[in-house]
Amino acid sequence: MKIIIIGSGLAGLSAGYKLCKSNEIVIFEKDAEIGGMAASYCQDCTGKKYFIEKYYHHIFRSDSELLDLIRELGLEDQMLWLKGKNAYFVDGKNYPMNTPAEILRFKPLSFMDLVKLGLLVFRIKLIGDTTSYDRIKAKDWILDTAGKSVYENFFAPLMKSKFGGNAENVSAAWLIGRVKIRSDRGKEGEKLGYLRGGFNSLVEALAREITAQGGRILQNKAITEIVIKDNAVQGVVADGDFIPCDAVISTVEPGVLDTLTKDRLGTLHETLRSIRYQGTACALIGLDKGLMGDGNYWLNIKADVPFGAVIEHTNFMPFEDYGEHLVYVTSYFQDESDILWVKKEEEVLDSYLKGLEKMFPNFKRTDVRWAKLFRRMDTAPVYEQGYLQKVLPFAPGPSGLYLAGMFSPTNYPERSMNGSVKAGFESANFFTTKEGKCEVCWLD
Ligand SMILES: Cc1cc2nc3c(=O)[nH]c(=O)nc-3n(C[C@H](O)[C@H](O)[C@H](O)COP(=O)(O)OP(=O)(O)OC[C@H]3O[C@@H](n4cnc5c(N)ncnc54)[C@H](O)[C@@H]3O)c2cc1C
Repeated sequence: MKIIIIGSGLAGLSAGYKLCKSNEIVIFEKDAEIGGMAASYCQDCTGKKYFIEKYYHHIFRSDSELLDLIRELGLEDQMLWLKGKNAYFVDGKNYPMNTPAEILRFKPLSFMDLVKLGLLVFRIKLIGDTTSYDRIKAKDWILDTAGKSVYENFFAPLMKSKFGGNAENVSAAWLIGRVKIRSDRGKEGEKLGYLRGGFNSLVEALAREITAQGGRILQNKAITEIVIKDNAVQGVVADGDFIPCDAVISTVEPGVLDTLTKDRLGTLHETLRSIRYQGTACALIGLDKGLMGDGNYWLNIKADVPFGAVIEHTNFMPFEDYGEHLVYVTSYFQDESDILWVKKEEEVLDSYLKGLEKMFPNFKRTDVRWAKLFRRMDTAPVYEQGYLQKVLPFAPGPSGLYLAGMFSPTNYPERSMNGSVKAGFESANFFTTKEGKCEVCWLD
């Protein structure tokens, strides 16, 4: 069976990996590199070649499908569990946020507010099913349960840096999912997972397995149409050529899928158009000296700077792996009119460096060896109130068309590498019987 996969992110590669033994797989990728949002930048200006993700990435202990895949691909030896120190920068001061004792010293909240925050986190940990919280706005729920001060002084700046102008519309279900995963830390703080050599090793290993089975991954090849006739997929169009196939797995964002299917998904058309995605403008900076001397990996920020977080990768992974200090400076943005999208790369980088100068008196531009800006418009769905109704099915209707990606049920109420790996596997399940053989006939 010939299956075309649109997109070489983790959803597309995972689907291809599962299907390549019994099917002819062709993956089309519009970009020059594979990996989608988990793609890496290859840096070798120090003479020490290494890969580093364009956008900061780590994994959690609960990412079971991803961890199983890492094991299956023989990458377990590269897996590290490390402490990543967190802090919150508020009004010019750094507050460590790693342990309950540190959180109790967070001055912007009174003792009573801290008790309310603690009770809220405890309550969140007891919530199993988040379905009913999808209809409630996170803001309203925090105001009702923990009060104005906890909302304004703790959650609002974090939600603003994550969702910008859409922060007040985000659902309580998203907040609960997020807090659950980030509050899973013992007395000593949370440990995060990372692959030594970067997640490039995972992307490359998947691509190797697919091509070893005869699958093809075509880079710089955008699909411009998914051809559907009589409610069945016929093929795709790339570079003006029609390429026939038996099935298509699309991993592209909903708005793009709507364009590719040219209104042929019936009632799903409105849903595809209504799912909002947000962009990310993430600078990766190579430095002579470390930036955060207190050893912080992750710094959330409430300050008048054009970014919401600073992530010092070499305060997490050993400096020796890279031979230089690596720092991400990042912000989400909501639409194409945002200056982070409109401005030239040098201008955005300059505004970020100015922000760093303001926040870190010891930081000097002469410490910067190199800086790159990575930005994309389609980096996360906005999990607003009522989003659950918009989560896309794996099989949306037309015979032979499957969907897997950040918009899938496995990525609700927060998207992740694990969620996309799982989505890729789920879409592949439609093609296999219990014996692992391809079941062609029932698709038609
Ligand atoms: C800043 C940032 C930080 C993150 N940090 C973490 C983290 O710490 N931990 C974690 O688990 N997850 C993290 N994520 C999320 C994670 O990277 C994603 O959830 C996951 O990689 C998405 O994979 P995907 O395959 O679903 O989508 P994508 O990676 O977006 O893949 C879709 C692919 O489709 C391609 N495509 C689009 N249109 C076409 C077309 N017309 N033709 C051909 N190809 C096309 C795209 O170029 C892309 O390669 C982060 C994401 C960002 C942006």
